[in-house]
Amino acid sequence: MNAVNNERRKALVMMLGAAAGATLGMPALAQDLPHLEETDPTGAALGYKHDTTKVDAAKYPAHKAEQKCSNCNLIQGKDGDAWRPCAIFPGKAVNADGWCAAYVVKK
Ligand code: SF4
Repeated sequence: MNAVNNERRKALVMMLGAAAGATLGMPALAQDLPHLEETDPTGAALGYKHDTTKVDAAKYPAHKAEQKCSNCNLIQGKDGDAWRPCAIFPGKAVNADGWCAAYVVKK
């Protein structure tokens, strides 16, 4: 098989793999997830903020400035990424510097 056909075959295999992944409901890559909006009904109910320093202290008096998504036990994905999946908000990415009332300290 010549080089052109090899490249075509590789491209076809990649396209079929992507289509199969979408069809089978495989998880999207973290960077592809839509960002959780602060106005999302569940996010708003849990006081989610992209920036932990913007949390309503009157409403969440137990919140501490050092608490943020990147050190929450419910964060998923890769350390160092700015936006990461969270177990509480499936299909969305939360800001690593964010916070919500479901925060659980990472052990
Ligand atoms: Fe962030 Fe944790 Fe709330 Fe998820 S559960 S949004 S990681 S604080």
